[in-house]
Amino acid sequence: MENNFDVIVVGLGAMGSSACYYLSQNNINVLGLDQFNPPHNFGSSHGETRIIREAYFEHPLYVPLVQRAYDLWEDLQQKTTNIKSDKLENNESALLSDRLFLKTSGLMLGKKDSGVVSGAKKSAETHNLNYKLFNSDQIKKNYPAFNIPADNIGILENRAGILFPEKCIKKYLEYAKNKGVKINYNEKMISWKSNNSNITVTTDKNVYYTDKLILSTGAWIKEIIPNLKLKITRQVLFWLDTKGNDEFKSEKFPIYICEKNPEKIFYGFPDLGTGMKIAFHNHGQEIKPDNLDKNIYSDEIKEISDIVGKYFPKLKTNIIKSEVCMYTNTEDENFIIDYYPSNNNVIVASPCSGHGFKFSSAIGEILSQMANNTSLKFDLDPFKIQKRLNR
Ligand SMILES: Cc1cc2nc3c(=O)[nH]c(=O)nc-3n(C[C@H](O)[C@H](O)[C@H](O)COP(=O)(O)OP(=O)(O)OC[C@H]3O[C@@H](n4cnc5c(N)ncnc54)[C@H](O)[C@@H]3O)c2cc1C
Repeated sequence: MENNFDVIVVGLGAMGSSACYYLSQNNINVLGLDQFNPPHNFGSSHGETRIIREAYFEHPLYVPLVQRAYDLWEDLQQKTTNIKSDKLENNESALLSDRLFLKTSGLMLGKKDSGVVSGAKKSAETHNLNYKLFNSDQIKKNYPAFNIPADNIGILENRAGILFPEKCIKKYLEYAKNKGVKINYNEKMISWKSNNSNITVTTDKNVYYTDKLILSTGAWIKEIIPNLKLKITRQVLFWLDTKGNDEFKSEKFPIYICEKNPEKIFYGFPDLGTGMKIAFHNHGQEIKPDNLDKNIYSDEIKEISDIVGKYFPKLKTNIIKSEVCMYTNTEDENFIIDYYPSNNNVIVASPCSGHGFKFSSAIGEILSQMANNTSLKFDLDPFKIQKRLNR
């Protein structure tokens, strides 16, 4: 009996930990499994910070989902920490405190017709969101660290900010565990099979039986469903020394995404005490998740130095820290959130393509509703698995 569960969640990163949190609020028997000890540095959810923004340049369809995610992040912060404000409180260190969300506002930058700028404007207008349009001089005046080309503009949205992914995952898992979810770390699922009565999950340590299975294995999802059309890519992150220059602190430096051209989109964060984080959003080299190369190469340093020299001329590319992470990309960069083909007891959650974290609160709630056969408030049609399968 002890190996029988109502729901098993495999993969306890952003999506799986959140699913466990929401499942723990029902009176059911849940097991969460991860091959490592999350939050860890081997998947897609590490590196201190993730952007959350509402005027969603990718597509207006994401706006209601991110609005639900905002409410749920706030709820989590209130439920699990003493922090009440969405801004820093007296002398608080955003990275060291319990804070899960910090509002900084956000700038979407590029030429007027760039995907980032025109897409953000379209989402803001479709959903009646407040935004301001700035030309490059106004950006320099308001945010003196930035040096934006004269033909670029910026869409400023006030609600944007930063989530702290490792802290969010930790809170979700601690809470779920306290509510009775069994959490097993360092246990890898090797296979699963389903028959009419239940699903058998075999790991490197045990065999379990469950009514519902949630597969939220991030970059490893292709090992479990090999015919998924996904590209796993290596993404490099840099933290640069700002030498304590206040212009790079969160009071004067919003999160931003800047489209130099469609092949060069970069984004970054204010210096929260560990340097100014900057990275490219375009897909890096295709890899296999178990062979993630964590070395940083001179051409990667040169590429980021060129951007820093042009857009942040007050900064030298003095790298304090770097990290490597993985994107799991679909062809159209929309997520996969669906039942496994012809099996409504197995749920597949692969929301990445480099923009999934902010939604993980809302997606965890959705996964728990799918597992509980509760009706859903969101249309998951754009996230169907079928068109993302090789035949
Ligand atoms: C560099 C970078 C920057 C990003 N920036 C942003 C951003 O600013 N804003 C934003 O919203 N999103 C961003 N994203 C995307 C976001 O971080 C991802 O969408 C999200 O973290 C994916 O979560 P996940 O749960 O799918 O994967 P993960 O968090 O990687 O979790 C998958 C888990 O499954 C486990 N697992 C895999 N296989 C097995 C198995 N067989 N058995 C047991 N366990 C297994 C793994 O160990 C892992 O813990 C970024 C991603 C990267 C890489």
